[in-house]
Amino acid sequence: MKEKYYITTAIDYVNAKPHIGHAYEKIIADVLARWNRIKGKDVFYLTGTDENAQKNAQAAEEAKKDVKKFVDENVKYFIDLCKKLNLSNDYFIRTTEKRHIKISQEIFSKVLKKGDIYKGTYEGLYCQGCEAFITEKELVNGKCPEHNKEPRYIKEENYFFKMSKYENQMLDLLSKPGFVFPDYRGKEMYNRVKEEGLKDLCVSRKGTNWGIELPNDKGYSIYVWFDALINYISALDYPDGELYKKFWPADAHLIGKGINWFHSVIWPTMLMSAGIKLPKQIVVHGYLTVDGQKISKSLGNTIDPIKLVNKYGADPIRYVLIRDIPSGEDGDFSEKILTEKINSELANGLGNLISRSLGMTEKYFEGRVPKGKNLIKFDLDKLNEHFDKIELHLALAETWKYIDECNKFVEDKKPWVLAKENDKELSDVIYSLLDSIRIISILINPFIPETSEKINKKLGIKLGNYKDVKPNLLKQGIKVEKGESLFNKVEAEK
Ligand SMILES: [Zn+2]
Repeated sequence: MKEKYYITTAIDYVNAKPHIGHAYEKIIADVLARWNRIKGKDVFYLTGTDENAQKNAQAAEEAKKDVKKFVDENVKYFIDLCKKLNLSNDYFIRTTEKRHIKISQEIFSKVLKKGDIYKGTYEGLYCQGCEAFITEKELVNGKCPEHNKEPRYIKEENYFFKMSKYENQMLDLLSKPGFVFPDYRGKEMYNRVKEEGLKDLCVSRKGTNWGIELPNDKGYSIYVWFDALINYISALDYPDGELYKKFWPADAHLIGKGINWFHSVIWPTMLMSAGIKLPKQIVVHGYLTVDGQKISKSLGNTIDPIKLVNKYGADPIRYVLIRDIPSGEDGDFSEKILTEKINSELANGLGNLISRSLGMTEKYFEGRVPKGKNLIKFDLDKLNEHFDKIELHLALAETWKYIDECNKFVEDKKPWVLAKENDKELSDVIYSLLDSIRIISILINPFIPETSEKINKKLGIKLGNYKDVKPNLLKQGIKVEKGESLFNKVEAEK
């Protein structure tokens, strides 16, 4: 039986259009999904939208629109973004789906039945931006540091989840290396549980007319995070669905650092209470800045990723976001860097290698793959190691090292000189280049799939998989075609 791989992204609030940060997370997940498919695994890649949040309802009110209609309109931008970025997601979940509502209520009932939910009074602060209860200690100058806004004071009768009961189990889990990536993000969570202790969590909101109704009390809705996290199993038709049986537990929940607590602490305790297996790993990425500044509406730098794709294509954006930002760390994006990379690494590096290699095949061998042996080496172990450690920027750098070596091979061997004097060597040199390009089309596929497809079309072959990342598999005599350039140079942005 094939090995399985289940990866999810966080689900996005639909109170505004997507920005470049949303694109970044979905691209990382797509790279991991595609890489695991190449490795021969059965992959399920899930992304979607969190539609039950009070802040969606509030944004709708401000826009003077019916909430459901508002949500239906905005979700289109997120679905469109997935298509534009050429994502290979297997499903797009919306938490207003009937089955999600039903399954959320079932899980709530299960935890209630277990005696892990009780009624009490909540008194304290709530940040609408986070959709979370927040403590005095977390505030910076009286404001939520994520949203730079003062939280609201709330006092209401509510339902509480006995999270405190799971404190020791959580400390055990978080002390295991590998549960949270990068390690230091796991340590942060461990230290917080250790220092503050695990407190019970308020899991309802009173008197709201948006959200999922509590199964046991009609005057309340389920706290939005409690339902949102359940999307990871409702999308698989928990508990009896074929997908659930096959793909749960998740191999990776990919998230931004701001919601680590919800995924590395709250979600596992919910699952422990409901008697469901825990995910294997929480993968935390950093935040993007744009031109060195935090992405924010007031700064006017919320780059629309859909417009960006329309201008440059998906692959250059996918390339730059992975190549330039160390996995797990914060990083900066700018159109200046994007245009520089398009011209240098994509057009001059990869594009040039493809066009000169195919051009010489047309010139010297009437466009047919000559007989030969691949003389250019590639270190697959190193690439694997980077993927295993989720160092995607290094995996991509390793691939580009190979591309650079191929270009250097052309300079060293000078096929245009060989064409005049040494047929046998010319044959080997051109074969080496074409066979390496075949391997490159596989290696770049997770990162820039559209370019990978174009290269295969030029070579007249189908995309290979992991087993094909070895030399001398390209068949002699195949007709190749240089065709159009892969990347057009663009004018540098200032
Ligand atoms: Zn906040």
